[in-house]
Amino acid sequence: MSEHTESPDKLESMDPATGDVVGVHAVDDTASVDAAVARARASAGWWAGLGFDGRAEVLGQWRAVLTRRMAQLADVVHAETGKPHADAQLEIGLAIDHLAWIGSKAEKVLGRHRVSSGLLLANHSASVEYRPLGVVGVIGPWNYPVFTPMGSIAYALGAGNTVVFKPSELTPGVGVWLADSLREVVPDQHLLQTVIGWGETGAALCRADIDKLAFTGSTGTGKKVMAACAENLTPVVIEAGGKDALIVDEDADLEAAADAAAWGAFSNAGQTCIGVERVYVHEKVHEEFVALLSEKARAVHAGTDADAKLGPMTMTSQLEVVRRHVDDALARGGRAVVGGPEPVDERFAQPVVLVDVPEDSLAVTEETFGPTVVVNKVACMDEAIERTNAGKYGLGGAVFSGRRGPEIARQLRSGMTSVNSVIAFAGIPSLPFGGVGDSGFGRIHGADGLREFTYAKAVTRQRMKPVLNLTTFERTTEQDTLFVTLLTALHGRASQISKRPLRERVQAVRDRRRG
Ligand code: NDP
Repeated sequence: MSEHTESPDKLESMDPATGDVVGVHAVDDTASVDAAVARARASAGWWAGLGFDGRAEVLGQWRAVLTRRMAQLADVVHAETGKPHADAQLEIGLAIDHLAWIGSKAEKVLGRHRVSSGLLLANHSASVEYRPLGVVGVIGPWNYPVFTPMGSIAYALGAGNTVVFKPSELTPGVGVWLADSLREVVPDQHLLQTVIGWGETGAALCRADIDKLAFTGSTGTGKKVMAACAENLTPVVIEAGGKDALIVDEDADLEAAADAAAWGAFSNAGQTCIGVERVYVHEKVHEEFVALLSEKARAVHAGTDADAKLGPMTMTSQLEVVRRHVDDALARGGRAVVGGPEPVDERFAQPVVLVDVPEDSLAVTEETFGPTVVVNKVACMDEAIERTNAGKYGLGGAVFSGRRGPEIARQLRSGMTSVNSVIAFAGIPSLPFGGVGDSGFGRIHGADGLREFTYAKAVTRQRMKPVLNLTTFERTTEQDTLFVTLLTALHGRASQISKRPLRERVQAVRDRRRG
């Protein structure tokens, strides 16, 4: 995985636009990963004991630090990923907004609340709360080195866990900066620590004494993470890759759809898990849409000049994947209307718009993770849905339609869909984020994202003696018969939904038996 040539105890991070070294970090071996987890364990009780208000206060102070020093953090992100400074600020800003949501909503989502105890055990009160797990390990990628891991880090902290974070080997400085910034707020506790290194450090974290592992990265590495975690029965969240489609209906606002497709496909040089990699356009508007998208694609380029909207490919080995997918599409009869057949140089990939690409080609089936997009024609929206759902991934997606947007969106097999916009779901903190199929499982963000880092704790309290005590060796044959009769009355008929209290029902059964 590594493209660098460090000695094993030292990791150098580099500016991908120039190859200059921008940071040197000591590598954590298994012993130091275990030590970090032990420190996190020692702080876990303190953090959980602070309660929702205390934690909201700390997370609020951290949020203020992040906001005030956003430009400084964006400098680190820019240096390690090459993405434009303004784009780095955008991902940091979204992470800050999620932190605010967590602070204000954690208690409502996770705090103890009463639930119905049902008819059979109506003499009980019942409640549920969501307790922190303890220590959560987080393994993150390099493409959005703040926003993406913070989807796990901030939600795990908000739920009352401490965190040990293994950033990508390409963006260790961002991880260290994040941990240092929280340490400014709480200097004497280990709420968030980073462990630095390559895959071996990540594997050591998987095998350490953690209570859950949240992984974001490729599907292949996700499988290795699951296998390592399985050794200790450590549960996992897997946020893996995608091959998201954008669907354009015949009555869509084509200008808006083309603008969204261009942003979704090319921003961050296409290195976005929820980026647009395929577009399915109704045949009646395909030609016009391709013309609009092509115009927008020609207006952006990757480089280091002031006008460049796209940075370099952060992981240079990805350039070969982009080249292979474009070559394959062209060899199979696809056409490049923008860019190609040589879309890449040593560090930069330029936008490519491909049309008429066979559905079984690499550019349609595999994650490209570069600024290329396939635009294929469909006869109707049913065909667009079928093609979208044919892939092994199921992360996000978008639909542009005048009348049928939500209806089409609900038929797509993916975790998230934006209607008449692109990627909007990621910026709405109350919405869960995650995929199905090869895109992984589990959720970050929103109420589901908070609960992901907890265990449900159920408590019942008997408020009065039962009318029919089922859990005693004193139970009689008559009571057993009464139970069966009662159950038949309650559930025996499919359409029957009675609102009568259990006590009245038992009395009615007794009266019937007497009568
Ligand atoms: P990788 O899968 O290569 O790496 C992800 C993380 O796992 C890195 O920190 C990596 O460390 C670490 N790792 C590598 N090997 C192991 C191992 N054996 N055990 C434990 N950890 C290991 O992904 P990338 O960093 O290349 O990220 C890009 C991928 O992430 C794309 O597929 C993209 O779609 C996906 N992604 C998914 C998102 C989502 O929310 N669904 C969001 C963002 C990206 P190291 O870097 O040192 O190798």
